Amino acid sequence: MSETFVRVALDHPLPTLFDYRCDAQAPVPGTLVAVPFGKRSVVGLVVEVSAHTEVPADRVRTIEAACSACAPLSAEWLALATFAADYYQRSLGEVALPALPQALRDPARWARLFAVAPRFRLTAAGRAALPDALPARAAALRRLAQALAEAGPLDAADARALHPKAGATLADWQAQGWVEVDTDGGTAFDGHAGATGAQEGAPELARAMRPAPTDEQRQAVDEIAAAQGFSPFLLHGVTGSGKTEVYLRSLERLFDARPDAQALVLVPEINLTPQFEAAFRARFASLAGDDSIVTLHSGMADGERARSWLAAHTGRARIVLGTRLAVLASLPALALIVVDEEHEPAYKQQEGLRYSARDLAVWRAKQRGIAVVLGSATPSLESWWQAEQGRYRRLSLSRRAVAEAVLPSVRMIDLEEERRRGRGSVDGISGPLAAALKARLERGEQSLVFLNRRGYAPVLACDACGWLAGCPRCSAYVVLHKSEHTLRCHHCGWEARVPRACPDCGNVDIAPLGRGTQRVEETLAALVPGARVLRIDADSTRRKGSAQTLFSNVHAGEVDILVGTQMIAKGHDFQRVSLVGVLNADAALFSHDFRAGERLFAQLMQVSGRAGRAGLPGEVLVQTRYPRHALYHALGRHDYVGFANATLAERRDAQLPPFVYQALLRAEGRTLDAALAFLAAAGEALAQVPFAERVTVYDAVPMTIVKVANVHRAQLLLESASRASLLATLRAWQPMLRALKGVLRWSVEVDPLDI
Ligand code: ADP
Ligand code: ZN
Ligand code: ZN
Repeated sequence: MSETFVRVALDHPLPTLFDYRCDAQAPVPGTLVAVPFGKRSVVGLVVEVSAHTEVPADRVRTIEAACSACAPLSAEWLALATFAADYYQRSLGEVALPALPQALRDPARWARLFAVAPRFRLTAAGRAALPDALPARAAALRRLAQALAEAGPLDAADARALHPKAGATLADWQAQGWVEVDTDGGTAFDGHAGATGAQEGAPELARAMRPAPTDEQRQAVDEIAAAQGFSPFLLHGVTGSGKTEVYLRSLERLFDARPDAQALVLVPEINLTPQFEAAFRARFASLAGDDSIVTLHSGMADGERARSWLAAHTGRARIVLGTRLAVLASLPALALIVVDEEHEPAYKQQEGLRYSARDLAVWRAKQRGIAVVLGSATPSLESWWQAEQGRYRRLSLSRRAVAEAVLPSVRMIDLEEERRRGRGSVDGISGPLAAALKARLERGEQSLVFLNRRGYAPVLACDACGWLAGCPRCSAYVVLHKSEHTLRCHHCGWEARVPRACPDCGNVDIAPLGRGTQRVEETLAALVPGARVLRIDADSTRRKGSAQTLFSNVHAGEVDILVGTQMIAKGHDFQRVSLVGVLNADAALFSHDFRAGERLFAQLMQVSGRAGRAGLPGEVLVQTRYPRHALYHALGRHDYVGFANATLAERRDAQLPPFVYQALLRAEGRTLDAALAFLAAAGEALAQVPFAERVTVYDAVPMTIVKVANVHRAQLLLESASRASLLATLRAWQPMLRALKGVLRWSVEVDPLDI
């Protein structure tokens, strides 16, 4: 009898598939299998089935198990993973396997994941008879009947939570013909199971409550709904213009036309956007089944994430709302993709497979021939340039959706002039900003103070000898966290108690230099007496869920002044904020990173957009030493288009992205010399790569923060006007890089955001 082999992708950097023998019937491509690898057993993905193998017969091992309960991943999904692997210079397994929920990568958990819990559902007879047949005082029984009628099928555990003797009751009802048991209600194979009868009336209700669209919103929704085939849209809508409503209505139109379709909605960070999720759940409350709207993000528990993933994979989930990792979900009926805040750097994964979820979303839309909507008030220059060239269709929302809400007035506070006129700042807060904060407090309105630096002060210094507190493991200063009495390295996490005296000269007068959110919080509490000041940043929200609590305090009006980092800038619809103060923004104006200006502009537009959303006139005050800088000038006029076109012209002159394509080779060594030597050798190896003549190679340079956690880092930049040449070069270069030694780690990043 002839043998069968499968070629399996494993999460391993070698760009090859691994061959295994199958004893039983060969699993089809797309099936997950457990296979021996070295001394371990790992999960892999079958890519091909073959009657032959190049591996010598005595060395081919046999697959241990196939996950037959999970429907195979589609050829289309494999093509997506293959593209991503090729584009981002990784092996197929390095893309495909990390894209799966952890629970699926553990064969020991397969059985439990797909175990079928019997579910009880009302029959038509039960629906007609039940509430009336129950004694009036049987509250628990009524609760159970009501849950079956309204929430749909229940499993035994759900039922027991409502009524301790649910088991006996359900058996009784089953005997009466009021309840039936379905055993495949929760499995991976049940297509579109779930409640079917209970939702009439609900869609009308959700639709009746929604706002009438503005003309611009209606136009955008119509264009998206009319799209045929691959249709990338850039939805450029000023802050508060109601982009969410456009997404919601586009999904409604989709489901009206195609009841079984799936939509993927990407958000930069799901924990920061509970109101976004709530809006989708409320509008689509009527979709059948518990799994019809699922979320996918890295903060979820394993089991929950596996459940969401499987709901997407089987088509039960109609709306998948997720962070960047959701772009790799298996979505067999995918028909529309939304990428909200498409400019957000968070869409770029910064370790492992360094992919851009936004770019993969566009590729996916092209693969399936569907519409993708990229929404932003400040589109990335990459997307803007696509729109300028007519490759993306532009949809504009130029006005705020709420009739009385207008964009806030933006004013620069010239710190130099304040100083010249002898009206110095009090610990970083200028007179005009302090006065504006006090006026808001008196009027019972909220203010927001934005500064992109957490901690108390970025460094602790000795006036006597010039000592600055540095991290012993990094080439960076440590940040003073006063309330915790610690110095903390924001690069490697190193921590120490604050010293009593300068370790170099013994001077006890060591003092914080500069300011972070903690210090501003302290200053504002003293400067605006009576104000309730709340700080929101990565430190104050470390506990899971605490950000939500803090934000709900703001929404509930329990806060007068909110101080925070970019966490407070994104997406929030604060109704009572009428003033935004911006501190310390200047540093980014002169950064060596060519994207710093674009990022700053987006951040300031976002944070400004928090002011004056619900009819209170909004004001934004930016403290700066460069009030006439072009970036601030554009900000003051809410002129994204002017800023984008001017910046694109500069990029074109300087031959920077999006006019050229870039890739980085990064190396980490025990010494800087080792890292640089590796990169130099890598650069020389490029001479042997056939396509390399269309690629410019720059000198290897140390990274801005050379040493992090005792590892020295350097990088080599490659650039080309041709994306294809760059990718071909990288592909041919990989085996040469693998042959080089002398560093701890190296990695290639395509389309890097931070250079
Ligand atoms: P964006 O995401 O574009 O900044 P949002 O989607 O947060 O804007 O919408 C801003 C506010 O406008 C929200 O409070 C939303 O409920 C409201 N809104 C959106 N569309 C309309 C509309 N057509 N009529 C009235 N209010 C609307
Ligand atoms: Zn000193
Ligand atoms: Zn450190």
